[in-house]
Amino acid sequence: LLEVRGVTKRFGTLQALGGVDVTVRAGTFHGLIGPNGSGKSTLLKAIAGAHLPSSGTVHFGGTDITNATPYERARLGLSLKFQITAVLPELSVYDNVLLALQAEQGVWALIRSRSRTRMRGEVMHALERFRLADRADELAGALSHGEQQWLEIAMALAPKPQLLLLDEPTGGMSPEERRVTGELLMPIKSTCALVIVEHDLDFIRDICDVLTVLDQGKVLDSGTVDQIQQSAKVQQVYTTRV
Ligand code: ATP
Ligand code: MG
Repeated sequence: LLEVRGVTKRFGTLQALGGVDVTVRAGTFHGLIGPNGSGKSTLLKAIAGAHLPSSGTVHFGGTDITNATPYERARLGLSLKFQITAVLPELSVYDNVLLALQAEQGVWALIRSRSRTRMRGEVMHALERFRLADRADELAGALSHGEQQWLEIAMALAPKPQLLLLDEPTGGMSPEERRVTGELLMPIKSTCALVIVEHDLDFIRDICDVLTVLDQGKVLDSGTVDQIQQSAKVQQVYTTRV
């Protein structure tokens, strides 16, 4: 589904990514871990089109998207939730998802009169998945931090992407909220692949099929959860630098 080949990213003299290869198959959850500053967010942004790589290629569903705009990527079925929360607190929970859906489908979908009831159905479906349906009319700002994170995931999933990118979606959550997040994410596996950045290894171990470990902008190791847990290279970095 996703093929990242030899991606590098420089910010001035700083080499944030130094030739990264990652392959994500359809229907899999792929975890991205690594110490602070190892390039996880930068890699996710290069996949999402928030910035362009200095070199290397990104293919999605066979299409070269290396230089595609974020909007073009969204049209192809790629969706992203950033590390920093971006719900609009002054709008209702419902309107936040509606906006996310409309932004992805563009004005043309509206003009071509996708029916209001159908839009409403799609918004409510997205909210139900994250236990927010009965909060639809409340202001998004009234939700707890954890619920706002769920709302953002619901917003990212509303357009029914084939691949969802999540950057630390459980940041600032309680252990219980984290557990529930894993529970809520699992059912999407049947329709959507996931690339998820996380610091919480227990959480990521439970939901991911494959892990890639970044260190100083390079892939330190990649494999199944078991393989990574037994990887001497990974253990060394984690005991000496995290
Ligand atoms: P964290 O776990 O703290 O979120 P990360 O693995 O996501 O870290 P990145 O945010 O990808 O790390 O950053 C990788 C390196 O690139 C860091 O040294 C960071 O300071 C640098 N960097 C990231 N974004 C920019 C930018 N827009 N301009 C300059 N340097 C940047
Ligand atoms: Mg980051």
